[in-house]
Amino acid sequence: MPRPIEALIHPDALAHNLARARAQAPDARVWAVVKANAYGHGIERVFEPLRSADGFALLDLAEAARLRALDWRGPILLLEGVFEPRDLELCSRLNLWHAVHNEQQIDWLSRHKTHQPHRVFLKMNSGMNRLGFSPTALRTAWARLNALPQVDEISLMTHFSDADSPTGIAHQVAVFEQATRDLPGERSLSNSAAVLRHAGLASDWVRAGILTYGSAPDFPEHDSAHWGLQPAMTLRSKLIGIQPLQPGDTVGYGSRFVAETALRIGIVACGYADGYPRHAGSGTPVLVDGVRCATVGRVSMDMLAVDLTPVPAAQLGSEVTLWGRGPHFDQDGSCLSIDEVAQAAGTIGYELMCALAPRVPVTLS
Ligand SMILES: *Cc1c(COP(=O)(O)O)cnc(C)c1O
Repeated sequence: MPRPIEALIHPDALAHNLARARAQAPDARVWAVVKANAYGHGIERVFEPLRSADGFALLDLAEAARLRALDWRGPILLLEGVFEPRDLELCSRLNLWHAVHNEQQIDWLSRHKTHQPHRVFLKMNSGMNRLGFSPTALRTAWARLNALPQVDEISLMTHFSDADSPTGIAHQVAVFEQATRDLPGERSLSNSAAVLRHAGLASDWVRAGILTYGSAPDFPEHDSAHWGLQPAMTLRSKLIGIQPLQPGDTVGYGSRFVAETALRIGIVACGYADGYPRHAGSGTPVLVDGVRCATVGRVSMDMLAVDLTPVPAAQLGSEVTLWGRGPHFDQDGSCLSIDEVAQAAGTIGYELMCALAPRVPVTLS
């Protein structure tokens, strides 16, 4: 028998979350962002529930090829564009739209031999200072692209650094609008946080990433329930050990937890080699038989420990929810937010879902 740990991917939640993006941006077309193997959920698993998206956005050409292998004929956008000249051949062959964010990519395009002109998304750096042309360099880049026979329609995109926080997007929107005022073409501005927090922003194409997977981009200011999102991934396991502790007993490597009173702890078949964050300290929430408990001691490679005080009936084999849908979800909708677990580990939901380890069996549920 395999270890009892497993991940469940919930197609109904993915479809629901995509519908939430549409409701927030009713006039926009929606890219379902499926980079990093659909944020750890698996491109092949999310494809059916997300196929009503207007397109899929990702970074990796191999992932784009996997979408075409699923017979997806609609738009695919490479968010970082091509990484070397021969990537353009794959773009021509698979009809991939691609971002253009530097001069070198334009040089490569100008030398690319194709019968099929490419749809490109010219990326502007409006203040994040990661990728894209500065407001002053944008016009020259646009004019160069516009003169190329290899280029079909040119759209304009930018990315926000602070859409998830009170700092907001106003400054970047102003810079973008000023620099693109008289340029034609469709616009793509919003990521998940902008879709949720700045619903009025005009964007022909929104890029819905994390919200699709049911995590709140602006946790803890808002949680996923506030935004009407449902977690698309559950990580669950079982208790494989129980230890009664006396005052002074310690738990795990480094003896980081010391019992002050007598208590029972449960040992869960889940550790950092499954993708659970090692930096989640004592007190990180978990559900045991649906009851909220707290971890104790250090997370080890294959196991972690839980204080069973809130759930005296817990026994070997009791179900443990690390994040996602609890065992009573069908009755009362109860979940453990991946964002809460991430916060306890000093990170964000994005990182946890992307880090789900290959050794964890995954099923659709
Ligand atoms: C990853 C990514 C997104 C999606 O961001 P979320 O915060 O997950 O919605 C949007 N745009 C670009 C350019 C990205 O790289």
